[in-house]
Amino acid sequence: MPELPEAETIVRGLAPVIRERRISSVKVEHADVLDGEADAFSRQLVGRRIEEVGRRGKNIVLVLDSGERLVVNLGMSGRLLHRAPHDDTPPPTHPAVHFELERSTTLVYHDVRRFGRLRVMAAEAYRSWSRSLGPEPLGRAFTGRRLARDLSGSVSPIRSWLLDQRRVVGIGNIYANEALHRARVHPRTPAREIPEKGVVRLHRAVRKVLRDSIQAQGTTLRDYRTARNEEGSYAHHLRVYGRKGEACPRCGTPVKRIVFGNRPAFYCPQCQPEPEPSS
Ligand SMILES: [Zn+2]
Repeated sequence: MPELPEAETIVRGLAPVIRERRISSVKVEHADVLDGEADAFSRQLVGRRIEEVGRRGKNIVLVLDSGERLVVNLGMSGRLLHRAPHDDTPPPTHPAVHFELERSTTLVYHDVRRFGRLRVMAAEAYRSWSRSLGPEPLGRAFTGRRLARDLSGSVSPIRSWLLDQRRVVGIGNIYANEALHRARVHPRTPAREIPEKGVVRLHRAVRKVLRDSIQAQGTTLRDYRTARNEEGSYAHHLRVYGRKGEACPRCGTPVKRIVFGNRPAFYCPQCQPEPEPSS
C-alpha cells in the first residue's frame, strides 16, 4: 500500500514533466474512483494548468491555476503513470482515468482494485482538510519535542498511533513496523509509556526509514510503481516487515508476527520487549 515515500517518489517523477502544462481532456473509464460524478470532475479540470505537483501525507496534490487541488489517494493499488509522446511500451492494463495534457503528454490513473480516490477540492476545503491532518514527518514541525508531547497524551498502542493520519501523516504499516524495530520499541507499547530515550530513537527512526525509502524510490511488494512504471527497491532493505521467522538483523532472534488492530505487526522479541502491564 503506497505510503509517504511512494507518493513522494511519484511526485518527484511527475513534477518535471507535467508542471505548467494544461489539461486538454479527461476521460473517465471507472467513475468509482472519483469522489463525485465524472462530468463534473472533467469540467473542473479541462482547460486548467497544473501549477505545482506536491504531496500531503500519502496523497499526491496537483495545484491548478484555478486555485483548486486535484488530490489523488492511491488506495491499495493505485498508480499515477506518466506517458511521454510516442511511448511505445504496453499501455496500462487497468486505466481508470486518462488525462491528456498539452504537448501530447498523458497521465494515467491506473488501479487494479480501485480503492483509490481522486477528488477536486476548492482552495478553502483543501486547507481545512489539510489542517485536520497531523504534521509531515519529514517537515520542520515534526520535532522530537513535539512527538514526545503528542505521545504523552495517548494510551493507543504506538503502532496504531503512528498509523493515525491525524497524529502524523504518511506512515502506513510497513514504515511503522520498520521504525519501531529501529527504535527498539514493541509495537503494542502504549504511546505514553515509551521512555524518553525510546521517543528520541523513534523520532530519528521514522525520519530515517522514510528518507531511505525515498532514496530507493519506495517499496514495491506488489502493485506500487513510480510515475515511470518502475518498481521501488526498498523492499530489499526491510528488516522486519513481512519477515516472520527470519533473523533480526540486529541480534539474530527470529522475527515474530502478531495481529492487532486488524493488521499484522512484525517485531524482534529480543530488541523490542513486551511492555510491562501497567498497574
Ligand atoms: Zn533483535
